Amino acid sequence: MNRDSRYDILFQPLRIGPVVAKNRFYQVPHCNGGGYRDPSAAAAMRRVKAEGGWGVIFTEQVELHHSSEITPYIELRLWDDDDIPMLARMADAMHEYDALAGIELAYPGVNGPNLYTREVPMAPTALPIRTFTNDPVAAREMNKSDIKDLLDWHRLAFRRAKTAGFDLVCLYGAHGFGVIQHFLSRVTNHRTDEYGGSLENRSRLMRQLIEVAKDEIGDTCGITLRLSLDEAVADLGFSNNELRDLIAMHAELPDLWDLAHGSWEDCSATSRFKEEANQQSLVQGIKLLTSKPVVGVGRFTSPDVMAKQIKSGVLDFIGCARPSIADPFLPNKIDQGRVEDIRECIGCNICVAGDMTGGISHCTQNPTFMEEWRRGWHPEKFVTKASDDRVLIVGGGPAGLEATRVLGERGYEVVLAEAGTELGGRVARECRLPGLSAWGRVRDYRQYQISQMANVSTYLESRLDAEQVLEFGFQHVAIATGSHWRRDGVARHHVLPLTMPDSMPVFTPDDLMDGDFPTGRVVVFDDDHFYMGSVVAEALVAKGCEVELITPSAYVAEWTLNTLEQALVHQRLIENNVSIELNRAVSSVSEGLVVSSCVYSNTNKEHHCDALVLVTARSSDDQLFNDIRGHESDWSDAGIKSVELVGDAKAPAPIAWAVFAGHRYARELGVTVSDKTALPFKRELATLGAFPSP
Ligand code: ADP
Ligand code: SF4
Repeated sequence: MNRDSRYDILFQPLRIGPVVAKNRFYQVPHCNGGGYRDPSAAAAMRRVKAEGGWGVIFTEQVELHHSSEITPYIELRLWDDDDIPMLARMADAMHEYDALAGIELAYPGVNGPNLYTREVPMAPTALPIRTFTNDPVAAREMNKSDIKDLLDWHRLAFRRAKTAGFDLVCLYGAHGFGVIQHFLSRVTNHRTDEYGGSLENRSRLMRQLIEVAKDEIGDTCGITLRLSLDEAVADLGFSNNELRDLIAMHAELPDLWDLAHGSWEDCSATSRFKEEANQQSLVQGIKLLTSKPVVGVGRFTSPDVMAKQIKSGVLDFIGCARPSIADPFLPNKIDQGRVEDIRECIGCNICVAGDMTGGISHCTQNPTFMEEWRRGWHPEKFVTKASDDRVLIVGGGPAGLEATRVLGERGYEVVLAEAGTELGGRVARECRLPGLSAWGRVRDYRQYQISQMANVSTYLESRLDAEQVLEFGFQHVAIATGSHWRRDGVARHHVLPLTMPDSMPVFTPDDLMDGDFPTGRVVVFDDDHFYMGSVVAEALVAKGCEVELITPSAYVAEWTLNTLEQALVHQRLIENNVSIELNRAVSSVSEGLVVSSCVYSNTNKEHHCDALVLVTARSSDDQLFNDIRGHESDWSDAGIKSVELVGDAKAPAPIAWAVFAGHRYARELGVTVSDKTALPFKRELATLGAFPSP
């Protein structure tokens, strides 16, 4: 198929200093949880993006000197020449399909606690380190000789970046993470010398750094600057107006302006809180201040929105991090006229959580993300089926849909049986809750893909039992029957069921999703700690309930700290007049009364209410699997070779886990593993150093 001419503008080349990008698809720097621990995994992930058509591809944040690092977060490092090979591998991978290879250099300064190197952090002004975890460490103020050192360290890093093969070098001064921003902002720069005070003074270091970069590598590398669109910290923050003044003042200084909203939380907001293209008002008009290209982000997944950003003169390049994770082939799909095949990011920030937790990033929509090298998974290519065996998938939730899709791609004949009247399982139900509509994309993408496959048949309203499964005669059966919310209060705080009288109406999120809502005063007990408790509270308020949310955690929706949503969740609950009781757990329930006790002091508090909603834990729906297992002796007569439990039916977890489980099942079906004790993925181990005897 041919490209729609409306999108031609997205494929026009554009110069960035001495180099030319082949199109307008610009993968802005993004973390992946792998970094220096998993360099080949990260390089292979970037190569897939190059193959998928991105014109510019960046690394994640690269710490340019050992005196400033952000342990426990795992990014990349360029501390000495020994780091060059892993970066060169990444640059080479980006180049394989003609993308420009970019490196983002950062000196975290007041954002770097140096928990690993134990160096004393340095910043424009002596202040406590500003991190997610409020580390009990302070930075000292840089003196003039430190600033000179900083310029020299940058010069070295520029040289090394060029040696590694990068075409673009980005100086990071956004999201509160880079020293350039710390000098620009009056929040972190209280200096009275020529580096503090006026905007001209606060931008002096930025200008000097770019001059060093131009001098050292400017003949072959484009120098880009990543700045915050609006720091949004009270009156002191580096505001959007100041940014515009700064760009007017230094209009032609970098080869490109890369602009991203204030904090990382602001910039990478989830779809629950921000729409696509939500930074437009902050970036609009900036192009008039400079002749250099401007790139901006906004979780762009729609080619129409992208083309409009360029046609209307807002942006020159479409910056994408998450959309490029969810679908590394987004540019090629637009180019090939396959827009309906784009796997759109749902804006859930599970990818961010990989970085925040020190795991490796997962993506809800793209289970191959960071598995390209580790497991050899390519997002668009699949090993052909191993046999003519037929496969039955029971359950059309995220796990069942993904298993069906991938088996279909492999050429298997697949039947998907779903008990309900629609596909999507929990995603279909949850996307009707407040703020979660974009999550329906998990279903929409897969439903469309399997609808195009002649070898896949889907049956709705088909609740199967063990006898039917045995009768059908499929060689392989995957049971992806999901889970349901518990009604007995068991989760983390209570490991045994709560005693609750019948006279107290008790609801679960499933009841609410089925349209069965309480009325009056409602207590929500959240011992799940992800999004559901707060979403349910919002849904109850929308139905006219007066809501009190009780949680044993010190935070509302504690795990949303990892998806950068926690502050927004808390804020939204306040806006909805939800009363919040932290550090308390429901301890007894009687008619019209819930008693909570403090998790530290055990002091009790009464909560008079008409109903209790328990957002505690989910139980697997594995009855069908157990029933089939009970008939194992009949399998061979029925022609069954394997029966597997997949997704939430095995153990409940976020949607990304179910998609991964379905994908893995389908990838591995029929693939013989010679050594069953071998690791199921590759990893890289540190090279051992010399170890002198005592
Ligand atoms: P997961 O996240 O693991 O995919 P979900 O709960 O989202 O799990 O989806 C499970 C799906 O399985 C639901 O749509 C449910 O209706 C369906 N299902 C459950 N039991 C059966 C059954 N016996 N036969 C067919 N479909 C079933
Ligand atoms: Fe988008 Fe969620 Fe995937 Fe991140 S994990 S890229 S937010 S779909």
